Amino acid sequence: MTATVIDGRAMGMAIRAELREDVQNYIQVRGIAPGLVVVRVEGDAASGVYTKAILRIANEIGVQARVELLPSSTSSEELHSLLLHLNTDEQTQGIIVQMPLPGHLSQKMVADTLAMAKDIDGICPQSAGNLFLGLPSFLPSTAAAVMEILGRTQTPLQGRRVVILGRSNVVGKPLAMMLLQKNATVTVCHSRTANLSMFTHDADVLIAAVARAKMVTAEMVRPGATVIDVGINALPEGGVVGDVDFASVSEVAGVLTPTPGGVGPLTNVLLLKQCVEAAWQQIGGRTPSETMSRS
Ligand code: NAP
Repeated sequence: MTATVIDGRAMGMAIRAELREDVQNYIQVRGIAPGLVVVRVEGDAASGVYTKAILRIANEIGVQARVELLPSSTSSEELHSLLLHLNTDEQTQGIIVQMPLPGHLSQKMVADTLAMAKDIDGICPQSAGNLFLGLPSFLPSTAAAVMEILGRTQTPLQGRRVVILGRSNVVGKPLAMMLLQKNATVTVCHSRTANLSMFTHDADVLIAAVARAKMVTAEMVRPGATVIDVGINALPEGGVVGDVDFASVSEVAGVLTPTPGGVGPLTNVLLLKQCVEAAWQQIGGRTPSETMSRS
């Protein structure tokens, strides 16, 4: 193996330690801990697992987190009125609505209703718009986790060719905006991209977010490139693999994130980090430009 393998778990632990201290400072100032509410509509088993992971980290760093568990029969009006209540609830500084929602509930309604100040996963149109304009905003946490890894590993981005595989609203598109802010030259590929290898082989930094198990192979990677694997694909026989074929790519890449143990462990930590930032901002303790500026 030639690649340096990034330990996302260790990075996550370091950020948690920083957050514990930040939360203690907040409690000293305000007298109570920041409050996080995870809204979960029953129906998707995986989102129950993610919710537990978020609660575990919140508990560990001292954020007061609770779940609003709603039955799958919840109406759009009921979900809407809960979100309106949380938007103005003084005990709630951050709100996450677990996706996917049952088919009769609209993700757009949720995104349009969440108060931007509490939208700690950056899903509302104003947050996305601010990101597009290069203004401070809360960021989709998976994309933020990728940037955190690139930052902590001091990966040069200015003037470098970065290729992103995937153009989803939660990973590929926000990442493209964040990387442009860092003066990278960004190419976004997708399922209709012709001659994908021509792009990937040219990348100094290759980010895979395609939801296709082991799709990126050694032949697609430029020797010495940094490869970030966002993918989490459950195998029929059990276990998970990334979008990158770890065994072959680790022989070619310079730096590589594994799955599991790479981007995944950082995603929820970054979500909690943005919750703590939201709490500070809501009491005027920090301005968004101090906390979320990316340039
Ligand atoms: P998604 O919404 O399914 O988007 C996948 C993207 O990949 C789409 O833009 C699609 O193109 C593109 N794509 C699919 N097949 C391709 C191919 N053969 N060649 C090039 N592009 C292709 O997925 P997502 O929500 O962005 O998530 C991506 C991966 O990250 C998934 O494996 C997911 O489980 C994982 N994930 C991880 C975390 C974490 O914490 N680590 C969090 C969220 C998601 P089109 O737009 O043309 O369809």
